[in-house]
Parts: sequence; structure tokens; C-alpha cells
Amino acid sequence: MRIIVTGGAGFIGSAVVRQLIRQTEAHVLTLDALTYAGNLANIAAVADDPRHHFLKADIRDFDAVVRAFAEFQPDGVIHLAAESHVDRSIDGPRAFLETNVNGTYNMLEAARNYHAGLTGAARDGFRFVHVSTDEVFGELGPAGRFTETSPYRPGSPYAATKASADHLVRAWQHSFGLPCLITNCSNNYGPYQYPEKLIPVLVNRAVAGSSLPIYGTGENVRDWLYVEDHAAALRLVLDRGRIGETYNIGGDSEWTNIAVARSVCALLDEMRPQSPACPHERLIELVTDRPGHDRRYAMDSTKITVELGWRPVETFEAGLRKTVRWYLDNADWTAGVLKGAEICRRGLNDRTEKN
Ligand code: NAD
Repeated sequence: MRIIVTGGAGFIGSAVVRQLIRQTEAHVLTLDALTYAGNLANIAAVADDPRHHFLKADIRDFDAVVRAFAEFQPDGVIHLAAESHVDRSIDGPRAFLETNVNGTYNMLEAARNYHAGLTGAARDGFRFVHVSTDEVFGELGPAGRFTETSPYRPGSPYAATKASADHLVRAWQHSFGLPCLITNCSNNYGPYQYPEKLIPVLVNRAVAGSSLPIYGTGENVRDWLYVEDHAAALRLVLDRGRIGETYNIGGDSEWTNIAVARSVCALLDEMRPQSPACPHERLIELVTDRPGHDRRYAMDSTKITVELGWRPVETFEAGLRKTVRWYLDNADWTAGVLKGAEICRRGLNDRTEKN
């Protein structure tokens, strides 16, 4: 197999690339623009493997994408490249439209042209997996879970652009017969997550003894999935998913934001008992809520479990422990990716920093 992974230098994409190189015989082209969120350090462990290839390219550049298909001759694509941070989408939605919508359009058109030129087994075997989010479905009340047939009701600019991309993918499948599959996944966590997302922000700020900003009352609920479990699910969907289908992927692990923050604090108390910041929980500070903050997401992953045999391996407790340990042991990685960067987390930007 020859697989293009767009966004392969990002958080989830790099987990996919590392798994493909370590656990399969596939040749992988990591296609990534290396925005603030993409870092070659994330794939350094496999970069020198002769089966790994890297192309710095922007999916907003149609010609560059067409060239990548022509030169690499993929059997499949896992399309993860996106602007991914909800807070940034509220501060500046344009980049989200350009990459998530127009960029996905470029990927689909390039794939369609390329697929049209294939024959025989290469044509029959080609697949395009589009990676999306549970946020396209909007928010849930206290009960119920999203299924593959839940209506789309995106609430943030990020979610709206991901929903738009999902619709384009379905249209390219329906109208042009491009063999596409879509996955919608819940909140991921784990190593190599850009330190503007909740869990790395909590760890890094707590270590520094800084306040831990939590939106609103902290009661918003997310369904957490360890990133390696998501990467395994994407590989399965590429290998064995049914063309034209959508698969929900979730951790079956619902936690409020405040409970996540308390768990991180408890782990830090245990791992760094001598820290003057102990007990870390006293650093938690409730801050003005994000506009339009969806109350609860939860995914029903029955379909991918029944059809493809996937289920998450990691529990949230064990996965969070490994994740906190990883950020403590890899402060150099954090310093490297943050060099010169501006962190965007509304809870941090919207108020005067006290630290
Ligand atoms: P990320 O922000 O960590 O990584 C995104 C990657 O895409 C980066 O390497 C970046 O350089 C690259 N990229 C951005 N714009 C690009 C462009 N125009 N051209 C080429 N490359 C570009 O994101 P992530 O958290 O790893 O998410 C990956 C995908 O999974 C996204 O499509 C996201 O919507 C989806 N997703 C994420 C989560 C989550 O919890 N993080 C959950 C469900 C779905």
C-alpha cells in the first residue's frame, strides 16, 4: 500500500504515520504545510525509514496537491489536514474556510482526477478516508449519543467548516463515484498534542504553578479517546470500511472538563510531590465561558465495533496517566513547538494574565 496522510505532522496524523510505518509494510507520504500546529518532531521517530516520505505542501494549493498524487501514486488517502482549534476559529474563521473547506475540495478534485486515470485493481482498490469530528452534530442534552444518522447542527466556525467538508466528501462519492469513507471522532488526547488544547495546557501550566483556566462552570462533557486508538480505527476504516459509509469513533468515556482538570492535578500531585504547586487543584480557576460552548458530546461507536471489530484499548485513567507522564518527560518537545508561537486558548486570551 502507498498512502498519503495529509496533516501527518500534526497530533493525530503523526500517530497514524508512526503506526503505519511501525506496524505495516506501507509506504507513507506525509503531506503537510507545517503550520503552527505541524511539527517534524512529531514524526522524527520514523522520518528516516525508507518507506516514509515527506512533502511540505499546502492543500490550499491545488497544483501542489495534483502533483503529489501524480508523483506518489497512492492506493489510499487519509485526509487529516485541517485547522483544528475551536477557539482560533472564533477569533479568525477565514483560515478554517480556506483549509478545511477549500483545501478538502482540492483534495477531492485531485483524487477524482487521479482516480479517473487508474485502471484495474488500482482503480478498484483506491480509497479516500476523510477524518472529521463529533462537533458537526452540535450539542447533546444530558442523555443520548450521536449515531451516524444524527442530523448535522454545527455550532462553532470550526465545526461548520468540518461539516461543510463532510458534505463535499459525500457529494464527490455520490456524484462522481469517488470511493470515499468518512469518520467522525470524539475528543482525542495523548502525546504530541499541540499545547493549546485542554490537557497539555493543564499539564504545562500546572507545572509552572500558573492558574488552570476552565470555561464556565466546568460541567461541559466530552467523550475522550486516546490518540493511538483513533489512529488504529482510521487504519481499519482504510483497510476494511465499506465505501460510501460513515463511521463514528468514540472512547465511550465521558468526562466533564472540571473532572479532567482535577484528574490531571491529582496525577501531578502524585508524580511531583515536592512541587511547591501542590496541591495543584488550587490552581483551577473558572473563567468566562466560550461563546456558543457546546454542552455535551458523546459518540455511539456500535457500527465500527460490529462491522470492523474496533474498540478502544486504553481506558481514560490509564491513558491520562501515560499522557501526563509524557508531557513531564518531554518538556523539550513542548518548548520546541512553542518557540515563537502565540497560544490561543480563549480562557487564556480573554482575561488579564495573573501569572
Ligand atoms: P492538528 O492541528 O494537531 O494538526 C493539523 C495538521 O494539519 C498540522 O500538521 C498542520 O500543519 C496541517 N495543516 C493545517 N493546514 C494545512 C494546509 N492548508 N495544508 C496542509 N497541511 C495543513 O490537528 P489534529 O488534532 O491532529 O486533528 C487532525 C484531524 O482530525 C483534523 O481534521 C480534525 O478536524 C480531526 N479531528 C480532531 C480531533 C481532536 O480531538 N483533535 C477529534 C476529531 C477529529
